Amino acid sequence: MESSESMRNKCAACFRQFIRMEHLVDHMRTTYHSVHEPTCGVCKKHCRSFESLREHLIGPLPKQECKNLFNIRGCKFCLAILDSPYALRIHQDRCQLSGVNYGIAARLANLGLRDSLTIDNGFSRGPQVVALACKMVGAGSDGSLDLCARVCIIDENENMIYHTYVKPPIPVTNYRYETTGIRPEYLRDATPLRQVQRRIQDFLFNGEPMWKIRSPKGGKARILVGHGLDHDLDRLQVEYPAIMIRDTAKYPPLMKTSKLSNSLKYLTQAYLGYDIQTGIQDPYEDCVATMRLYMRMRNQAHRRENYPLASDPQNRNNFASWRQSELERMSPEEMLATSRSDYYCWCLDSE
Ligand SMILES: [Zn+2]
Ligand SMILES: [Zn+2]
Ligand SMILES: [Zn+2]
Ligand SMILES: [Zn+2]
Repeated sequence: MESSESMRNKCAACFRQFIRMEHLVDHMRTTYHSVHEPTCGVCKKHCRSFESLREHLIGPLPKQECKNLFNIRGCKFCLAILDSPYALRIHQDRCQLSGVNYGIAARLANLGLRDSLTIDNGFSRGPQVVALACKMVGAGSDGSLDLCARVCIIDENENMIYHTYVKPPIPVTNYRYETTGIRPEYLRDATPLRQVQRRIQDFLFNGEPMWKIRSPKGGKARILVGHGLDHDLDRLQVEYPAIMIRDTAKYPPLMKTSKLSNSLKYLTQAYLGYDIQTGIQDPYEDCVATMRLYMRMRNQAHRRENYPLASDPQNRNNFASWRQSELERMSPEEMLATSRSDYYCWCLDSE
């Protein structure tokens, strides 16, 4: 039996126990626990990432009670616990996706179709979401300098809305054919990088001036989804505000417990249940995988809060400036209710 004293010093989110209340308060000030963290469907423990939730559920040292229930009616892709083994079967049939037939997309691309950006039909609902992926070839004496040679953009419904080969500004020294499938003749008369850069930039901003983009909502600029977008955008020489970017390589719930990125190949296998990037890689396939991961994260049913971020100015009086003595009088549950996330949960895009 735990004494009531140690129960009081137990974090209501991650269940860590502290000998002294002041240590729990310090813990709460720095962990930014929130309703947006991946949470165990059995014991309600909050985890920093889905990876640590997976460890909690299936080992190497799982919590036995949670593991037992998870084995019977837990979805191994989204880690949710369903009401019955039957409900699990129905759920998992929909939760596990299969790969896309990108042969057709690739053929369209090779024909040079879609070399224009024509998603905008003038109607305006919420911000449009698009996913972008590139394939790189090598430059420099050892071929290790990445150059964008192919870029693809899709919409929310996985329609390819842009694809082009890119004529790099400097000579290619390694086509990386085994993974890119790119031959010199594909690039010889391809669209020059400058032109691709301008098209993509104009398309993303969609007429919205940079200075006006303060929030992902309410404007015309598009939310951009991808994996490792810093690198892609750098190679494309496109600048885009961080507030509009949803990067599956940098989203805390999708990262390793060590705070390193997972590969897109791993995320697709673990969370969507199919294989990508076998043999010659197609940027369309990467776009689809990142868009699906984004949609899955965005569709999480988290409790709505007025000011969901620790950095929202309205929260300044909520937690950070509480006096230590006031916090020490709160129950762990009250402290958790006061705490807000330190990252932007993608469920907030669906509000
Ligand atoms: Zn905690
Ligand atoms: Zn959320
Ligand atoms: Zn649990
Ligand atoms: Zn699932």
